Amino acid sequence: MTRSYETEVIHAMSKPDSRTRAVSPSIVPAVAYAFSDVESAIETVMGKNDDVYYGRYGNPTIKLLEEKIAYLEGGEAALAVSSGMAAISNALLCYLSSGDHVLVTKDIYGGTHHFLTVLAPRFGIEFDFVDCTDLEAVSLAIKENTKVLYIETPSNPSLTVLDIKALSDLAHAHGLSVVIDNTFMTPLLQRPLELGADLVVHSATKYINGHGDVIAGLMIGNQDDITFIRKNLMGDLGQNLNAWDAYLILRGIKTMAIRMKKHNDNAMAIANFLQQHPFISKVNYPGLPSHPQYELAQLQMKGMGGIVTFELKGDFETAKRFLNQLNLAMISFSLGDPETLVQHPASMTHASIPKEQREKFGISDGLIRLSAGLEDSKDIIEDLNNALSVVSAETLMELNYSK
Ligand SMILES: *Cc1c(COP(=O)(O)O)cnc(C)c1O
Repeated sequence: MTRSYETEVIHAMSKPDSRTRAVSPSIVPAVAYAFSDVESAIETVMGKNDDVYYGRYGNPTIKLLEEKIAYLEGGEAALAVSSGMAAISNALLCYLSSGDHVLVTKDIYGGTHHFLTVLAPRFGIEFDFVDCTDLEAVSLAIKENTKVLYIETPSNPSLTVLDIKALSDLAHAHGLSVVIDNTFMTPLLQRPLELGADLVVHSATKYINGHGDVIAGLMIGNQDDITFIRKNLMGDLGQNLNAWDAYLILRGIKTMAIRMKKHNDNAMAIANFLQQHPFISKVNYPGLPSHPQYELAQLQMKGMGGIVTFELKGDFETAKRFLNQLNLAMISFSLGDPETLVQHPASMTHASIPKEQREKFGISDGLIRLSAGLEDSKDIIEDLNNALSVVSAETLMELNYSK
């Protein structure tokens, strides 16, 4: 009998240490690895085997993490790096050279937007943002020099759900590679390689580690691409992870299945609460039947994730006042932690995107992003309810005053 995925999340690639019988993996900080003779050192460095040889190109603890995540995403190989942005920039630079063009879904992680608009053009890489819910628009936007389709689903922060299979088929028909940021989902809730994507990237900083104490990134794809990135990008740019952080991520993965279940349940409860609140004009959550891609989400995702975004009836200032009223939920730039974290994209994570463009991406001034933590959902909802009561009363008073 094959084991269930939730069991594999804990057991895949993990064996007790053959020497000590330790159940949890060892942290190996060594940079140097000794060879019995020069010939075997040469073979290793030439890639004739997958032994480790120098810490910048990998180490035994990191290797275990890479094997585990490759298994969980259903890829041939994986590479762990020092941050999600290292994974994203390496993934793009793997396929793009000077003179090439990349098509990018229109609302993406702020750092990815910054990389594409600020650094990539200096190296002759062109880009266009396109509405990837519209296959026709994607098809029309493909140019002669387009090499990559880069997507994120559900997107940050609009939570737009994209059809990975349809987009991959379309991209492949035009010879493009598909790169997808799967951070919001983890391999537990969505496995893009099975749907046709070529390379998956993660900010392991978020749900995969899950405890807000590691910055790391992961890439999963075919062996050739991963080897290319390991040698020529991660290695030469020096973006390696370290053994301690790899260990923490391996530990975090053990509880990923139960954590994701709770994140999903809490987010659903919060979305339902917000949806009926009179001071909220809009709730974005793929688990709500009102979500524009609700049906696609049900088919493509095994859970709806822990992120809810919503709009307050008010402006930039109202949104900030609301966040300042929260007690349990913390104002923070990150997500995917045990604590409920909130932020205001227009003034925080997406502030570097000009207002006009922000609005095109669905990032209005009143938009709030909430990362549902692992607390009791009743406490999170009470906190939101209290803050909403204060801010809506203030807004009402101001309206009366101005009459
Ligand atoms: C946080 C995040 C990133 C960047 O990850 P870092 O680990 O902070 O570099 C990329 N994509 C998404 C969707 C994220 O949430």
